[in-house]
Amino acid sequence: MSTPTEPVKTQPRYARWLATTNVVTRHIVATYGPDCINLSGGLPAPEIYPLAAIEAATQRALARFKHRAVSYGPVEGMKELRMAIAARASTPRQRFGAENVLITTGSLQALDLLGKILVEPGETILAQFPTYLGALDAWRPRTPTYRRLDWAADPMSLGQAVSGAQFVYCVPNFSNPTGALIATESRQRLLAAAQRAGGVLVEDDPYGALFYDGVALPSLLDLSSDGSEIYRGPVVHLGTLSKSIGPGLRIGWAIAEPKMIEMLSLAKQGADIGTGTFAQGVAVELLDAGIDRAVLPDMLALYTRRRDALVAAAGEHLGLRFDFTAPVGGMFLWLTAKDPALDTDALWPIAFAAGVSFCPGSVFDPTARLKNAMRLNFTLNDEAQLVEGVRRLARAVERHLQAPA
Ligand code: PMP
Repeated sequence: MSTPTEPVKTQPRYARWLATTNVVTRHIVATYGPDCINLSGGLPAPEIYPLAAIEAATQRALARFKHRAVSYGPVEGMKELRMAIAARASTPRQRFGAENVLITTGSLQALDLLGKILVEPGETILAQFPTYLGALDAWRPRTPTYRRLDWAADPMSLGQAVSGAQFVYCVPNFSNPTGALIATESRQRLLAAAQRAGGVLVEDDPYGALFYDGVALPSLLDLSSDGSEIYRGPVVHLGTLSKSIGPGLRIGWAIAEPKMIEMLSLAKQGADIGTGTFAQGVAVELLDAGIDRAVLPDMLALYTRRRDALVAAAGEHLGLRFDFTAPVGGMFLWLTAKDPALDTDALWPIAFAAGVSFCPGSVFDPTARLKNAMRLNFTLNDEAQLVEGVRRLARAVERHLQAPA
């Protein structure tokens, strides 16, 4: 008979990269009560989610796809949805087909898969700085090295930077977090450098439709189109329904040359075997009915008013302490402190206790050293809440600056 022994307490040996991450995303996607105004997330206004259209699309999807709507589907995505995305991307100059499209579980999954297929531990990613937090999170387990993408670099330096990296990551339309819009000439220069160096350009574009002032600029995907029968350019263009319809659908996509799509599919097979077919079926119906395009005018009008309200409130209550530029699109206002002693990591708990949350700059920096900046969202809350949120933030800033170091 064996002698009973004391059970040994489980001691998992967690992977080292976990020590380099943070819990900010959990706060970003959390819905707060009236006591705390969430200015931290990149969240759409829930009141304009097209619920009736989604309900009708769900019924049509079940009637059309029947058992396919709840079965496993192809790893690359349902043919109908891939074709719908390809048709949207096609122009008189360039045709895209299903072979150019991978459906992903949100565009964040496309970032994750790109890390898996392109980056060995320690290899370099050339990234727009500051860099989207979700991308940094997605690539953390790959332990990459980051170099800053300098849009203004001369062609030779840009070419060298591109050839020294596994790929280039950028958000040319209203960057997350800064809201910056990259000019067409800079896009062209980057593309030319990538074409000379044989590099891959990842163009992450969730905000391209959210243009409040002026007209849309050509995407890197469009600029790289050469009219060949099958697109074989260097751009991997990422899109999503998260901002145009609703993030809970978790429908995103990558558009790229067929070999890249094949490699991404191999990685996706081990991630989730395929994006939920139910959501894909609904997405096909929503896109076929043009629901994203139908809701856009109201969305642009609402977000323009909210952008204006946040910019005005920031000017009034935070203008003494921060520099900022009003964004012409997207979802964010980026503020940089005039006083280098202002540390937005230290400000965060004070602001949270005062009933407002924001995104500290450090989470958009692979080295977490960007302490004097913060990102505010203007799409989730109405104008009155935005103004109240900024007032609370301004009070928290003064408290932070008065606190002993
Ligand atoms: N890329 C960028 C730049 C984003 O801002 C976001 C959403 N915050 C995503 C990708 C991910 O979006 P989703 O996975 O919901 O499509």
